[in-house]
Amino acid sequence: MLHKVKSAGGKKESEMEYGPFAYFDGKIIPIEEAKVSIMTHSFNYGTGVFEGIRGTWNKKDQELYIFKLREHYDRLLRNCNIIRVQPPLDLDEICDVTVKLCAKNGFKTDIYIRPLIYKSHYSVSPALHGTDELAIYVLPFGDYVNTQGLRCMTSSWRRVMDNAVPCRGKIIGAYANSALAVTEAHDAGYDEAIVLREDGTVSEGSAMNLFMVRDGTLITTPLTSDILEGITRESIIELAENELKMRVEVRPIGRTEMYICDELFFTGTGAKVAPVIEVDSRLIASGETGPMTRRIQKLYLDVMQRKVPKYRKWCVPVYRKRKSKVAAPKKRAAARTKRR
Ligand code: PMP
Repeated sequence: MLHKVKSAGGKKESEMEYGPFAYFDGKIIPIEEAKVSIMTHSFNYGTGVFEGIRGTWNKKDQELYIFKLREHYDRLLRNCNIIRVQPPLDLDEICDVTVKLCAKNGFKTDIYIRPLIYKSHYSVSPALHGTDELAIYVLPFGDYVNTQGLRCMTSSWRRVMDNAVPCRGKIIGAYANSALAVTEAHDAGYDEAIVLREDGTVSEGSAMNLFMVRDGTLITTPLTSDILEGITRESIIELAENELKMRVEVRPIGRTEMYICDELFFTGTGAKVAPVIEVDSRLIASGETGPMTRRIQKLYLDVMQRKVPKYRKWCVPVYRKRKSKVAAPKKRAAARTKRR
């Protein structure tokens, strides 16, 4: 079922496996036909928004469950307003077409869904005018990072400020910042980067939010700390408070606070819940995954597999016959917990 697609220029080292079908130009078509011109505005200027959504294969159920599909697309559609792109589909339509695309690709493995809404017109001016397009592709996706324990460094790159290039949403161009940070970390022999803000406090990882444990309290940085409004972050806060009865605090984190904390972990669609065991050559506590991280990690993985009855609504089945469109939560507010 999988297609290997070479990058532009046909360089072998860029080969990656993708699903054979993509959504492009209003239709589901073979991935090879989903192409954009080098003159495309967003290719030149990073003007667009994207999402990263996980589907988890449950072998027992023989079903692929898309995690928080509606919440991801709610974020995407809201983010369109930041970079002034017009979504060509509404929330119901985009959820529906995504489920159809996943089913058409026929995956029986964990997957990653990548939708993009981008400035599709040709113009040398960076101004945010012109036409927009939606494209979606899907790929098989295992662990994005090592979920047993990451060695991290504080990046020499500062997190891009929200009022410079908005980082609250997944703006395509802002990911040059993530690229610089993670590449520096890899080149220096680390697994990941932790990126500080201009004021020296902690922001997040290159593509993940950060949580810390101190004296039994789970602490994460606020939405005003130049972080992405992470869906996993929001889910972990809800699960930790409501199911694991943990105390959660949202407040700024200082760099050296990471060195003296009890536990540290990343959260993200790609990273899931990934323990950080070392920062800047200092072990975090004993250098092993901590007990609170372990409990959160297990619960989150179970929820993603639709094993926890209370949270089944977070998982949208791909292959099961659906009566209608992707079920909308009764009230819009029910789709999201209070944002902190
Ligand atoms: N921060 C950044 C910069 C990211 O790219 C991501 C991945 N989307 C996250 C945090 C985690 O967000 P989410 O849990 O919504 O995947």
